[in-house]
Amino acid sequence: MLDFLGNLERTHMCGDLRAADAGKQVVLMGWVNRRRDHGSLIFLDVRDRSGIAQVVLDKDLTPEGHLKGEQVRPEYVVAAVGKVRLRSQDAINPKMPTGEIEIEATELRVLNDTKLAPFSPSEDAIQNEEVRLKYRYIDLRRPEMQHNFKLRHEITLAIRESLSSQGFLEIETPILTKSTPEGARDFLVPSRVHPGEFFALPQSPQIFKQILMISGFDRYFQIARCFRDEDLRADRQLEFTQVDLEMSFPQQDSVFGVVEQFMKAGFAAAGIDLPIPFPRMTYDESMRRYGTDKPDLRLPGLTDVRSAFTDDALATLAIDPALPVVALRIPNVGELSRKEREDNHPLFDQKKGAKFIDDFRRLAKSFPESAVKVRELAGAADADFVIVVAGDPAHHIKASDTKFPGRLSEREINVYAAAGNFRAELAKKYADRHGAFRVTDEVVSAAATRSSATEMIEGSQAFHPMWLTDFPMFEYELASAKWVPAHHPFTAPIEADMANLKSDPASVRANCYDLAMNGLELGSGSIRIHRKDVQQQIFASLGISEEEAKARFGFFLDALEYGTPPHGGIALGLDRIVMLLAGASNLREVITFPKTAKAIDLMSEAPTAVSEQQLKELHIRVALKS
Ligand code: ASP
Repeated sequence: MLDFLGNLERTHMCGDLRAADAGKQVVLMGWVNRRRDHGSLIFLDVRDRSGIAQVVLDKDLTPEGHLKGEQVRPEYVVAAVGKVRLRSQDAINPKMPTGEIEIEATELRVLNDTKLAPFSPSEDAIQNEEVRLKYRYIDLRRPEMQHNFKLRHEITLAIRESLSSQGFLEIETPILTKSTPEGARDFLVPSRVHPGEFFALPQSPQIFKQILMISGFDRYFQIARCFRDEDLRADRQLEFTQVDLEMSFPQQDSVFGVVEQFMKAGFAAAGIDLPIPFPRMTYDESMRRYGTDKPDLRLPGLTDVRSAFTDDALATLAIDPALPVVALRIPNVGELSRKEREDNHPLFDQKKGAKFIDDFRRLAKSFPESAVKVRELAGAADADFVIVVAGDPAHHIKASDTKFPGRLSEREINVYAAAGNFRAELAKKYADRHGAFRVTDEVVSAAATRSSATEMIEGSQAFHPMWLTDFPMFEYELASAKWVPAHHPFTAPIEADMANLKSDPASVRANCYDLAMNGLELGSGSIRIHRKDVQQQIFASLGISEEEAKARFGFFLDALEYGTPPHGGIALGLDRIVMLLAGASNLREVITFPKTAKAIDLMSEAPTAVSEQQLKELHIRVALKS
């Protein structure tokens, strides 16, 4: 029953037809989205990438086409030949862009049939994501997914054009390479030619882009695939795409300026106006105000409520008076029962040496003034849920107390972080009640349905970018009781702090920066070390011996000796940017063939075992305990 395509050529895309096309002779090709049989009239909604058009098969006009129309089913592939005509007034569908017209068919060709699919692309996504991923080709037919990938294309294109116009050259770097120290596990590729030796897939192009600066390219960028063998999360995949760039002779400001330009361009491609320049905040300030270095500014921050408590009150409540006492506030949650509050307790990170008070009735019984004052300081309305977070002397954790004027100590940071994590978790849980994230959803959907590509939706309320600066160079690792690098080891320290590298590592700030938006880290970068003596000093302070440094990045250290210009750069997660602009809550919605949380590609079933022959060629024996 299938027809050949013959020499038929498509003339129009389904979604492009409008009233002005009435009278035109057209050939459409696509999938049958829906079919309605009204006896002598059969209506087919034919769908292609651009949208849907209604095709009418009239038994009188095309008996043969009508007969085929009786047999086609959803997702059959068809070609419809006919004339565009205006629908009668009562048949106009204002919800469809093509709702004013239909195609009066003179011929229908059935180009392919289909097995019964496990779900229909004409409906919303099904709950079972595993089935969606196994049959990804069908899932990707859904208009929402088609939208996401068109958006991804447009954003990427705009970013490319912006960087190119800012003087950046797009240059590729190897995929089969040597380990890059970004803090994750490497994916290794065995070499057939060199038995027992391995390539590593790049965790980022970091070392290569720095070498490109030594090579004199001045401004490099790449839409680069990166590979990191780490546990997956909603905002993390094993392989992901970075907008990666590096420039010679920059200051932080120059990097920020470049990024702001391309972010503005990327957002504009999605129909959203993102004001620049972005605000900035130091790491310490962000910790103090939000308890995190990726603040979500759509919700109220933390409030210092130390002054609500007398010293006696703190002593009775067993709160460490030397550490921060802060309140977090989630608007409009309403009163929570004891059971509801207890359900939230596992969301609190116990390992930070902090505790919380979420039972205000009880607090009010012993310390009525404090209870009132806390809510007042936090600016809480009656329906707002307020929690006090403070240092817990009973859970003393190993952390540094080193304190520098105007800076936070590790121990203080821990208390803020406990409050910040709790705030973020509760904000997610009570999203429906506080409604603070809705503004973003509204802007995203207004942008997606805007009438013309040049129309811009104002985005300042929905998207809150923030530059974070002045990070500590080292962090204290509890397990080993050692100072360990907080960034990759090519990050330059702030020059003024370099004298303290050995004596006071806690005091040294890194010349690095993050871009955060709506509670997500979008990217990070730094001004790099461009002198070999400084690089050696940093390796030494990171406990990387000369031999180790030589074995791991000897080629890079060599290169540093051949006239390295001062340089710096940044990498932004493209998938995350698209995820935000698509209004998606998971990276998998904007990656065509993603891995599941269990690190499997359900469609191709990778990873899989390989043949004995392949293993032999690679000189590999698999040692699996059964
Ligand atoms: N290579 C870094 C990363 O992947 C970014 C950078 O420092 O430019 O996070």
